[in-house]
Amino acid sequence: MQYRRLGRSDLTVSEISLGSWLTYGGGVERERAEACLHRAFEVGINFIDTANVYARGAAESFLGEALRGLPRESYVLATKAFFPMSPDDRGLSAAQIEKQLDASLRRLRVDHVDLYQCHRYDPETPLEETMGALTSALRKGKTRYLGFSEWSPRQIQAAAALPGVERFVSSQPQYSMLWRAPELEVFPLCARLGIGQIVWSPLAQGVLSGKYRPGQPPPSDSRAASERMGGFIGEFLDNRILAGLQRLEPIARELGLSLPQLALAWVLRRLEVSSAIIGASRPEQVAENAGASGVRLEPAVLERIEKALVGAGQAATDP
Ligand code: NDP
Repeated sequence: MQYRRLGRSDLTVSEISLGSWLTYGGGVERERAEACLHRAFEVGINFIDTANVYARGAAESFLGEALRGLPRESYVLATKAFFPMSPDDRGLSAAQIEKQLDASLRRLRVDHVDLYQCHRYDPETPLEETMGALTSALRKGKTRYLGFSEWSPRQIQAAAALPGVERFVSSQPQYSMLWRAPELEVFPLCARLGIGQIVWSPLAQGVLSGKYRPGQPPPSDSRAASERMGGFIGEFLDNRILAGLQRLEPIARELGLSLPQLALAWVLRRLEVSSAIIGASRPEQVAENAGASGVRLEPAVLERIEKALVGAGQAATDP
């Protein structure tokens, strides 16, 4: 496993990190979830991402129990707030940030997280109030650094221009071979501001593993077959996309990589990306995906990938 600096922070994070949306504390049974986490540490993953809203607190509670006993400095822990935890608990007001961060720390059984992230921008709270509350939490030692997820360039710039508040060090956008939008503006803007990217769904929720075939039903043990998805993965399960992705298979094979490894190495080719946050329902997936770290894709390979992606209906935005 190789490691990268998270933006201008002093956090060193593994190129592959482990998330807990739809998996731990919910969709994946406890023993298997623990096995995934243990395998992650075995292969050198040191960065764990969660959120208060994942399984309504249960993902954090699972991590709190599973991480108990490990030296606190041996892993980098990130969580988030914004989405509703109850009809009255939502958003990024000062009161909510204090309440939600304290609740996250209790569930995670730690006195601080390394990274506290705004899960989205809160248009109902003045930015000054949100940034002031985050700054106060940081100065109290409840988090070491601040981040955001899916903020627009304008919102990112507005936060960077506010006087007297702490700066963000991380951005968490969706980014994969099937979702390239942040390459256009978010990556370059954040690079100028010293903000690193920790990208979510780098395998397009498993679609880039190659297990979904055009014209065939999803494998019964996959996320797409599971009721808990509610159709969110559906946008990627398009026959043209799936057929196009099959053109990536020979490229991966020639390099001695699996398809998920190729897809993750492709995400990591961008130095703005500090870490690719994978999900995993089985420990074997963790180990396989970790194998993408340190793989360098030559320009000729990147060109072949680009052609395959255009064939899958993905417009190129890379310079
Ligand atoms: P991925 O794109 O990595 O998809 C993960 C899923 O793909 C797994 O649960 C598994 O599903 C399948 N998979 C993974 N590896 C393999 C493999 N080697 N072979 C076959 N199938 C594989 O990421 P997620 O969509 O899970 O997102 C990752 C993390 O990003 C989340 O846990 C969360 O921390 C964060 N996130 C953040 C968001 C935000 O708004 N900030 C939004 C969404 C996620 P299965 O086996 O069930 O098919």
